[in-house]
Amino acid sequence: MTLLETRDLSVSYNEVPALRRVSIKVMKGEVVSVLGPNGAGKTTLLKSISGLVGSEPGSKILLNGEEIQHLAPHKITRLGVIHVPEGRQVFAELSVQENLEVAATRIGLSKARPNIERVYELFSELKSRKNQMAGTLSGGEQQMLAIGRAIVSDPVIMMIDEPSMGLAPVIVKRIFETLKKFVKDTGLTMLIVEQNAKLSLPMSDRVYIVSQGQIKLEGSVDEVKSDERIREMYFGGK
Ligand code: ATP
Repeated sequence: MTLLETRDLSVSYNEVPALRRVSIKVMKGEVVSVLGPNGAGKTTLLKSISGLVGSEPGSKILLNGEEIQHLAPHKITRLGVIHVPEGRQVFAELSVQENLEVAATRIGLSKARPNIERVYELFSELKSRKNQMAGTLSGGEQQMLAIGRAIVSDPVIMMIDEPSMGLAPVIVKRIFETLKKFVKDTGLTMLIVEQNAKLSLPMSDRVYIVSQGQIKLEGSVDEVKSDERIREMYFGGK
């Protein structure tokens, strides 16, 4: 079943195109990776799905077959499309616990309690810092909290933008391993933007390669990996 779909999605900033007729599909229970060079439009793709940037006439974004491209961001979030943005964005002045509780709004705190406990199980670093202000967490802990907030809200689809950005490899490995385990346990549907294909592909079912605002290639992880150009670009030719 197709959960999320974009059809001919075009976005421009000040009349400069950032996405041109991008059509992607994410099936329920799938993990889909978006790869591409800097400035390709990956962040714009996630932002337009979550309503943070508007799309051009003729563009369609469908969730469970219903058009959502005209909805305001909070309505899209309420439908369960949860965006973990680039650069994390936790509430710096709130504690870890408060950040998680705010994220519970979508489903209500009583329903979200087990999810908060789940987050503390997944990321024990956060549990021991429940009362610490989020702004004083390390970059890695803030990324864990940003992902944790998404988990608490019980996403229909989680969209995550460059979770590895600016973090030490050991932390990145920890975050990806935890995400992978969580996806395996829960069947969560994910759309993931990540420069480092070596991190994202092992947990992905399918891949879209974006360049200059357009989809250049799509396929299963194996198909994409067997493409000579992609291997060179993302896997050092091996
Ligand atoms: P990166 O990995 O560097 O974040 P990306 O693939 O996510 O790249 P986007 O951030 O979506 O790419 O940017 C796509 C294009 O749109 C780029 O040319 C960028 O300069 C432009 N762009 C992005 N945001 C804006 C904005 N707010 N105003 C004007 N142009 C923008």
